[in-house]
Amino acid sequence: MKLALLGPEKRTYSELRLLKECKQIFDTVTYFPIQKVVIEFDGELSVIYRGKNILDYDAVLPRIPRSYLHFGLTVLEMLKGTGIKMPIAPEAVLHTHNKFLTLILLARHEIRIPKTYLSLKRKALEFVLENVKYPVVLKTVYGCMGKGVMFADSKESAISIMDLLENLHQPVFVEEYVKNPGEDIRAIVVGERVVAAMKRKAKAGEKRANIGVGGIGENYRISEEESELALKAARALQMGIAGVDILPGKKRPCVVEVNVYPGLKGIEAATGVNVAKEIACYMLDLCSK
Ligand code: ADP
Repeated sequence: MKLALLGPEKRTYSELRLLKECKQIFDTVTYFPIQKVVIEFDGELSVIYRGKNILDYDAVLPRIPRSYLHFGLTVLEMLKGTGIKMPIAPEAVLHTHNKFLTLILLARHEIRIPKTYLSLKRKALEFVLENVKYPVVLKTVYGCMGKGVMFADSKESAISIMDLLENLHQPVFVEEYVKNPGEDIRAIVVGERVVAAMKRKAKAGEKRANIGVGGIGENYRISEEESELALKAARALQMGIAGVDILPGKKRPCVVEVNVYPGLKGIEAATGVNVAKEIACYMLDLCSK
């Protein structure tokens, strides 16, 4: 079987781990740097890098950086209907890029999410600030690694953050604060299983639990309810591989984000699980379906 890994030119820990594990079980594994591929139509469609065509492979494992979202999406859309196996539907890339849209799609599948509001204008959302409990969460729609998540302790602070978002021509995204002790859960879904889960704890004085902003990850025994939630979220977004972020909540857990290309470094270090191998085996299974 032949696997193509479509990722950034500069490989990160995750791509290197995936390459290593995929090479153990696939006959051929080729790395296609997204910045260097050429999409051709010369009577036939092809996606070429150094004379190799992605369309000659059995499966494609995408790890496309956000900065190349639309080009990457074009490639994935081209692969639709060709018989090449992919772990995610191409539209999942677009849907999960937009955090607000992700939540809306999850809600449509009756997956618990925080109360959320979106508008281009701060004024249109001021009514929310009258009734909401503080702190309230303000986010950029396209942020990642905790950068773009802000907390406001009062209506006044919320308004100034909303003004900033509006001024930067960013949609104003307001979310109810889900009470938690500075902790969240990252569940890695591969196929029909949660293969690894970690609890991330925010550093002192910080509400965001992301490892990128100083949070610490530790192995977590995920509950059945949380596991079901993660699987349901991945299914709703048509993803066979997903990093689902869950806040335990007071009564029931809710999903705050779904990552289409979850990083492997933090989760492998925290849990000791060979997530890259799980993904490689899943890709091979897909090829036989
Ligand atoms: P990112 O994609 O940048 O990681 P998230 O939306 O996952 O952004 O939020 C980052 C972190 O902020 C979460 O892991 C969690 O610790 C905290 N957080 C996010 N949303 C909420 C919320 N509604 N209530 C409480 N904490 C939140």
